[in-house]
Amino acid sequence: MTPQSEKFVFAPPAPVGVPIIGGGQFPVRRIFCVGRNYAAHTREMGGNPDREPPFFFTKPSDAIILGDHVPYPVATHSLHHEVELVIALDQAAHAISPAQAISPAQANSLIYGYAVGVDLTRRDLQDEAKSMRRPWDMAKGFDHSAPIGPIIPAAQIGHPTHGAITLAINSQVKQAGDLADLIWPVPDIIAALSHLVALAPGDLIYTGTPDGVGPLAVGDHVTCHIDGIPPLAFTITPPAR
Ligand code: MN
Repeated sequence: MTPQSEKFVFAPPAPVGVPIIGGGQFPVRRIFCVGRNYAAHTREMGGNPDREPPFFFTKPSDAIILGDHVPYPVATHSLHHEVELVIALDQAAHAISPAQAISPAQANSLIYGYAVGVDLTRRDLQDEAKSMRRPWDMAKGFDHSAPIGPIIPAAQIGHPTHGAITLAINSQVKQAGDLADLIWPVPDIIAALSHLVALAPGDLIYTGTPDGVGPLAVGDHVTCHIDGIPPLAFTITPPAR
């Protein structure tokens, strides 16, 4: 019997799980996201596409939303789509010093699998945060801000380094890039993030979006594709009550 002093005062939240192709669930621990990671998108956001070190922000794990309905969020009039390759880690990596190189093979050995995700963004709040030099959290880490498709194990597909990444709204292509155009490829992202935190099983990394980001409206049907990875599709529904 648990001593009274160790009891939770209410039931802890259930772990967030993402379905895995072939069965089972991937338990989500944390969600990291890479800022600008495709040169053309960096330019469209007014940044310098030279190879500056990658930077990261986070979303809470319960920002994950599965299934084919995503509610339009509160507190914005400018919900933007950003289609991204998502990495799912099942191995830990203690903070590796920047002086220590991590080989692509070592970095890839931390990866369980891959998924297609969308980094939904309240662009108006992000623009305001940028102009006031405030954090991005409420622009990026809101409820239902991390749609994700099923995870496919790397054991089945290997580690993709190129391939089309696209997002369409109502069958009209809005974003079309190639994984080969990542400024920081997957092993480099893992190495850079491991310099900042101890990576852990269950961590997801959204790896950045190609150019063509833009607004979503209630009723829009969004279809996302990355070569070799299960697709993601959803419809934007009226705000959740
Ligand atoms: Mn993004």
